[in-house]
Amino acid sequence: MPTQPLNPHLPFGENKQADWYGKDILSVKQFSRDDLQYVFGVAHEMRGMVERVGTFDLLKGKILANLFYEPSTRTSSSFTAAMERLGGSVIPINEVKYSSVSKGESLPDTIRTLECYADVIVLRHPETGSAAIAAKAAKKPVINAGDGVGEHPTQALLDTFTIMEELGRLDNLTVTMLGDLKYGRTVHSLARLLSQFSGIKLNYVSPDILRMPKEVMDEVAAKGVPQAEFASLEKALPETDVLYVTRVQKERFEDPADYEKVKGAYVIDPKVMKAAKQEMAVMHPLPRVGEISPDFDDDPRAAYFRQMEYGLYVRMALLAMVLGKA
Ligand code: ASP
Repeated sequence: MPTQPLNPHLPFGENKQADWYGKDILSVKQFSRDDLQYVFGVAHEMRGMVERVGTFDLLKGKILANLFYEPSTRTSSSFTAAMERLGGSVIPINEVKYSSVSKGESLPDTIRTLECYADVIVLRHPETGSAAIAAKAAKKPVINAGDGVGEHPTQALLDTFTIMEELGRLDNLTVTMLGDLKYGRTVHSLARLLSQFSGIKLNYVSPDILRMPKEVMDEVAAKGVPQAEFASLEKALPETDVLYVTRVQKERFEDPADYEKVKGAYVIDPKVMKAAKQEMAVMHPLPRVGEISPDFDDDPRAAYFRQMEYGLYVRMALLAMVLGKA
């Protein structure tokens, strides 16, 4: 494991552009520390360009197919904004019920169709492994924008970028993940991605029926990262550098009665946060449905709205990378 701390201002790795050209982004397992360094460097450039000129022509003439089989606000609109700020255009398929999917078309056929018209495909789908199936069918790059309870790699990249921006490091951090760790794909990706850094400790706080899957915990343990599970936040909060709050994923429950039992299990508000460090960050992939009280929004530690903005720059970077223009 390299010991050099990540620094987004360092020059990019020499061959990184070639490394990502034409590639799919399916899992955080594809990303080394060097890759992250590169993504963050490009994301910084993107931020600077957006602040200076707003929109520019890096991907002029390129087309993104934004294919969403599940609801999305941030991921879908940030990929659209990312492509348009880079001068490209977007085929939006947000409501598959208005596409041939509702006529029974298979995912591989839909993907083969879209790649006739687009240069890159962003896919959100309810089934784990669907992005890999799509990538197999496609010659053009496929970016996984959430495959069921599997992974959400671009979210984990923007989450780690957020941690770097907010706290200046990815090593030597105690990260506490709170809420629905069973069905929350963002925490599955984030735990895996963080496990390559040194001095990381992961705390998992959840109701018993929503614990972090064993498969993810085993992968993290294999990297030598200490993990601890808690039913309440009390013990974990005082040592926490990043509190990553998640929504209970109502749509994934087989029995609605189980959802009723665990919804509202945790609420972050100014009173709870009195026990936390002054220098730390509270993050959430959003949407929130009561896990963080709006009363906390003005606290400088509330990073979740900034996190959304960072997502734009990271997704601009990823599009430029897979299209060979980073
Ligand atoms: N927006 C995130 C996702 O798509 C988190 C959530 O929906 O709770 O996984």
